Amino acid sequence: MTAPAYPLTLDLTGRRVVVVGGGPVAARRARGLVEAGGAVEVIAPFVCEDLRDLLERVEITWHEREFVTGDLVLPEPAWLVHTATGDRSVDTQVSREAEAARVWCVRADDASTSSAWTPAVARGTHGTASEGLTVAVTAGADPRRAVAVRDAVLAALDSGSLPVRRVRPATGGGDVLPGGDAVQAGRVALVGGGPGAEDLITVRGRALLAAADVVVTDRLGPRGLLAALGQDVEVVDVGKTPGNHPVTQGRINELLVHHASLGKRVVRLKGGDPFVLGRGGEEALHCIEHGIPVEVVPGVTSAVSVPAAAGIPVTHRGITASFVVASAHDGADQVLRAASDAAPDATLVLLMGVTRLASTARALLDAGRRPDTPVALIERGWLPDQRTTVTTLEHAAADAERAGVKAPAVVVVGDVVSVRQQVGDLAGGVPSRG
Ligand code: SAH
Repeated sequence: MTAPAYPLTLDLTGRRVVVVGGGPVAARRARGLVEAGGAVEVIAPFVCEDLRDLLERVEITWHEREFVTGDLVLPEPAWLVHTATGDRSVDTQVSREAEAARVWCVRADDASTSSAWTPAVARGTHGTASEGLTVAVTAGADPRRAVAVRDAVLAALDSGSLPVRRVRPATGGGDVLPGGDAVQAGRVALVGGGPGAEDLITVRGRALLAAADVVVTDRLGPRGLLAALGQDVEVVDVGKTPGNHPVTQGRINELLVHHASLGKRVVRLKGGDPFVLGRGGEEALHCIEHGIPVEVVPGVTSAVSVPAAAGIPVTHRGITASFVVASAHDGADQVLRAASDAAPDATLVLLMGVTRLASTARALLDAGRRPDTPVALIERGWLPDQRTTVTTLEHAAADAERAGVKAPAVVVVGDVVSVRQQVGDLAGGVPSRG
């Protein structure tokens, strides 16, 4: 029985490493070795385009000739050699000389006669749960299997389904840990969570959530994802309910900066998109003013996705080519302004529109909108109890009251509502009624 291989990671910084060969495999190897800080020398009479590009961009010594005896020991012994010449006799010569000189040798043509092998390698993504991880997989004589496993591990890390986020000492500084890893200063990510379904957040949003030390959440958005967070993740709920504002925006801004300045990774998880009537812009500004690194991860906004869930496209060929999104929170004037600036046939999408529906509808009628303009009230889009009430501008307030329509709901005003008659609900995975 052959003994199992011995996995090891190497510090190649500044050490002489030789690549014999000038083809695409040699190019890949040379790139990896340069990234790892090696002092790379390529020995090949010709180089392929990839390798030529690399030689132009990074510091590599190219010996433009065949391999000759002594190359691995002169002018000084190499620490490692990769041979990928495509010529079996040359690769054999290189590996023999490497063996004699006690230089580890990776052979591209024949793993069984190599003294070293390169695993399938992936490095974690900056800012996500996989940051700081190197995934290296070997699968004996089956490199494709190793690549598949590597990719699966990385995907699972970034999606949060492997909850192994990095737990770092809290520090605001840029300390360096053994191994060269920098301890990161805290940061804030404004993550759009989408309209509420757990699988309508982006991949990056999900990855940042999996890496978070602190999550500051709202009432809206994919709250179900919070249950999957580790027990040591601090969840701060600043959720607002209509007419009841438990945490002010100023306080939320302070919270974000406070936690980030303790060196924590903060995710501000918001419903829909952070920059659509979500005050994400204010949060970003506040972080920047306080020197806190901040990024935004866009989300699927309810303004478009909630009508879609009810089978209402906000634009539709032959009906309208534009739509306007407005907040109805501060009264009908804002809505009127948005509507009057838009094309007469533009679909009007109102967020936070339930409380003031009667006055908004009245104002639109007074401004000349047809009383029979179709209106849809879509409550709790993409959630199991999604419900849609279809009415007209004239009857919207009375019908909403009769049906007991409550926030959160999106109000759609315009002829596109009629498309729903033909397509019905379109939210996959959401049992619907109404
Ligand atoms: N930034 C968010 C909007 C925040 S304002 C976005 O891009 O979606 C809050 C309003 O969004 C609610 O009052 C409601 O009008 C709407 N909303 C958000 N999620 C919703 C959902 N799942 N169903 C219906 N309306 C929703």
